[in-house]
Amino acid sequence: MTNASIPADQAEAPAKRHGSRRAWHFSPELPLRQAPYFELPFSLRDSIVYLFNVWRPFNQRFLLLLLAIAAWTWFTPTLERARSFELDWMLEIGLRNLVIVLVVAGGLHLLLFTFRNQNDEQRYDARPLARNSKVFHFGNQVWDNMFWTLVGSVPIGTLWECLLLWAYANGHATMITFGDNPAWFIGLMLIIPIWSGFHFYWYHRVGHVEPLYRWFHSWHHKNINTGPWSGHAMHPVEHLFLYSDLAIYFVVASHPIHVIFNAMLHTVAGPTSHCGYHEVRLTRYFRLQLGDFMHQLHHRYFDCNYGSYETPWDKVFGSFHDGTAAGDLAIKKRRRRMFEKKNQPA
Ligand SMILES: [Zn+2]
Ligand SMILES: [Zn+2]
Repeated sequence: MTNASIPADQAEAPAKRHGSRRAWHFSPELPLRQAPYFELPFSLRDSIVYLFNVWRPFNQRFLLLLLAIAAWTWFTPTLERARSFELDWMLEIGLRNLVIVLVVAGGLHLLLFTFRNQNDEQRYDARPLARNSKVFHFGNQVWDNMFWTLVGSVPIGTLWECLLLWAYANGHATMITFGDNPAWFIGLMLIIPIWSGFHFYWYHRVGHVEPLYRWFHSWHHKNINTGPWSGHAMHPVEHLFLYSDLAIYFVVASHPIHVIFNAMLHTVAGPTSHCGYHEVRLTRYFRLQLGDFMHQLHHRYFDCNYGSYETPWDKVFGSFHDGTAAGDLAIKKRRRRMFEKKNQPA
């Protein structure tokens, strides 16, 4: 996952130098700042400004909402059909998700890495993706990443969505409509990215504990430099947990649009957040901020930035890397402290 968007004030800035070395080909304005919801003292004004910013029209999050509405309206089977698990309607959802992934991950890969539409402009790490590498299945990073996305993530994400649709159809989940309760409908939509980030931090943090890391999460971390297909390049067991934030709709009154929007925070924002470019030039006049520098730091340094811009836990537990040289140093010190603690004589 990850988070679907980043504050606009972290937008375009020239490449920074950390000390004497050039740490990144491009970095957004540093230090990175997290969402103000959890900052002390709490500022309601800052939080509202932030919310307006991340939800502004034609930002990624807004587009994901439009996509969720369109997917529900035109590309999701009726609840009558979803009363029992049948392959036909489940495959229809799978086909829709497959097309979305092919368009988003495949489209971004073609645009950025095959046609090199913007060369390395706004690219975080300009090193090429791995070829002839024994680390990856098939010896090729992109093939490995595509395989696990298409074979693992699309079917498993689809199964989660089908499970919820079946639950609405059979009264195992409480369904509301916009007309029933517009305030809750909108309120829940605003909460979903925060909930998804909260869930992501915890399952991801646990995934870094041995032996779970070795068994499962290390597959994702083969990708030190990332491309769009890396977003879902993970062990299928991890796909199960990645989408498990959808389970909350068994107990929280909601609408299938909420479920689909939440799922798109993985299905679409997984590839976009790993695309390796901060802003992507989609047309001559339209750029979209898609990359996630906070998570890019996690891929390079492993033991920092487990969460998203909208989770407080990295700050609380001292693992937040703000992208600066001081952030490098803080993470190194924390690593040393943990190492010494682990190796202390009993
Ligand atoms: Zn990742
Ligand atoms: Zn990780």
